[in-house]
Amino acid sequence: MVSKQNINIALIGNPNTGKTSVFNQLTGLNQQVGNYPGITVEKKIGFCKLPNNIKANILDLPGTYSLNASSIDENVVIELLLNKNDKLYPDVALVVTDVENLKRNLLLFTQIKDLAIPTILVINMADRMKFKGISLDIPYLEEHLKTKIALISSRKGFGIQELKEMIITYRTLSTEPCLNASVIDPEYFDSLRKAFPNQLLYKLWLVITQDVNFLNLDRNEIRSSFTKSHSDLKRLQQKETIKRYQFINDVLKEGLNIDSSVAKDYRSKLDRVLTHKVWGYVIFFLILFVIFQSIFEWSTIPMDFIDASFASLSAYTASSLPAGVLTDLISQGIIPGIGGILIFIPQIAFLFMFISILEESGYMSRVVFLMDKIMRKFGLSGKSVVPLISGTACAIPAIMATRNIENWKERLITILVTPFTTCSARLPVYAIIIGLVIPDEHIFGFLNMQGLTLMLLYLLGFAAAIFSAYILNKILKIKSKTYFVVEMPNYKLPLFKNVGINVIEKTKAFVFGAGKIILAISIVLWFLASYGPGKDFNEAEKIVTETNSNKPLTSEEFENAVASQKLENSYIGIMGKTIEPAISPLGYDWKIGIAIISSFAAREVFVGTLATIYSVGGTDNEGTIKNKMAAEINPATGQKVFNFASGISLLLFYAFALQCASTLAITKKETNSWKWPVGQLILMSGFAYMVALLAYQILK
Ligand code: GDP
Repeated sequence: MVSKQNINIALIGNPNTGKTSVFNQLTGLNQQVGNYPGITVEKKIGFCKLPNNIKANILDLPGTYSLNASSIDENVVIELLLNKNDKLYPDVALVVTDVENLKRNLLLFTQIKDLAIPTILVINMADRMKFKGISLDIPYLEEHLKTKIALISSRKGFGIQELKEMIITYRTLSTEPCLNASVIDPEYFDSLRKAFPNQLLYKLWLVITQDVNFLNLDRNEIRSSFTKSHSDLKRLQQKETIKRYQFINDVLKEGLNIDSSVAKDYRSKLDRVLTHKVWGYVIFFLILFVIFQSIFEWSTIPMDFIDASFASLSAYTASSLPAGVLTDLISQGIIPGIGGILIFIPQIAFLFMFISILEESGYMSRVVFLMDKIMRKFGLSGKSVVPLISGTACAIPAIMATRNIENWKERLITILVTPFTTCSARLPVYAIIIGLVIPDEHIFGFLNMQGLTLMLLYLLGFAAAIFSAYILNKILKIKSKTYFVVEMPNYKLPLFKNVGINVIEKTKAFVFGAGKIILAISIVLWFLASYGPGKDFNEAEKIVTETNSNKPLTSEEFENAVASQKLENSYIGIMGKTIEPAISPLGYDWKIGIAIISSFAAREVFVGTLATIYSVGGTDNEGTIKNKMAAEINPATGQKVFNFASGISLLLFYAFALQCASTLAITKKETNSWKWPVGQLILMSGFAYMVALLAYQILK
């Protein structure tokens, strides 16, 4: 828990300096992940025990290049640092830098220093110094940067203990600025100083140039008396940056030495291959292929295990608790609902393990660079590749994987279109319908029609995603800066601690974020399917006995018949019949209507529901159900219910419709608003309806 007695430490640094690794080293698994209020930037707080029994709250701020805000991530940092009343306002700031990129990383350091916050300069990745021929004169740097320096390697774990000891002496740290803010524009700053004698000059400057207010200072008030045009302010900001780099260069000239003959050139060789016009793509698709094979292969066993465990848990509770509504709710509503959440864990965990390994190794940046040009044409970012492809496993982890897209518009579009990609829950639906309506024949002697149809459905999903991204990009009027820095970090062996923590965090976020909503919807659907008004539902046993009085039923046949009678007359059955007029132009009857409604919890439920409806008088053998479905005649048209036209219409409906409560839940979580998931639902399902209608009317 965040406690007032603990000292507050803020971790600040450019992206890829190893900030997360330092955070993990200091806190281990003592982390809480949440969002900053009102925005979807991740807020990570950890806890750490320091020497002398001092405890600390550690806030891992989003990676930023400077304090000249150009993204919401940067705003988060500025707003915290300008607000002394924030309960997380740091007692000490750790600015994390990468020893190989010290010059660029120090820009942010000098800005933080100028806010008069006690600051420690953490120089990370010290293990690379020997390999790169880098040497540092630490006492010289400490003196000229007016700070304490911790030279550490979060990978090898050295320097961490020394850093902790340095932190507890934070009261002795100098708060002298690196740059005298007045040099930016002496005259202007002089008058500022006179008007606000009690304020730090650099703070005033930040308030003037950023979109923030702080303390009782109103930005507009300051601006109105100290007018400068927008372009003047920009020019001064640039001047500030130049002055800072002059200062940094001077300090590093003495304090840093690089013997370039030592560093080998393996990196540029590897880059040339991995971002090559042809080989780059070939390698990327090979890697993807292996990843998806593994996700499917490895997930099957734990998923089957979870499935079976929950089925037997549910059977066990049903038989051991006293019969009644509560038992039914637990065994048929809650337990399967929780099972329906946990079943996603293996895929989510494996997917994030792979993504995290690719990111950690430095490869992902090359992919992003490679794909960015193409994706940008469609309003997406190079970073959208991962979510779009992950969507073939499941939209839930895929949407969660959009978090590292900085540009809000690109991220939003990616979130909105990802559910079009064919996820694994569509597979059982496709499989059974393709089996029913597409002949198992070959064309050209080798192309299996059923396989071909399946592949076309996958392609259709991708096409729909890309196409709708293109349209959204034209329609959505969201201003967000495209600020794409192709950061090419060095290649590194992934740190397993980072990978592990990332997997655990992402899985937890899913279970507790989307899980609640999935569970709630499962319970509602259970209720609708288990209750019904009137005699037809409540006296189902009697009705089945009467209608079958002249033919003896086995007990299994009897139970199936009762289940089917009940489902037909339950609330959900009534809903199915109510929507029949709306779906009959698509070629569906009320039974398919029930399946469509109930599969809203999760698409794969479609098959299970049809199995229950069609199990009248049959055995539980899937073949028989499929035969029954194949033989079913629609009394209204006299045609088979599952014919070519209605089958294609159903396939298209499931390809486009947002039949997935979990996706809505995760979109709500990631966009922090109901507006987007509701829009997504209406547009996708509306589009699906139109296409399915058109297909049926043309083909019938
Ligand atoms: P962040 O973006 O600043 O949070 O950085 P990360 O903690 O994700 O680290 C970026 C990359 O640097 C990852 O590939 C890490 O494995 C690697 N890394 C982190 N700390 C060290 C270190 O001390 N030495 C080396 N060689 N690599 C490190």
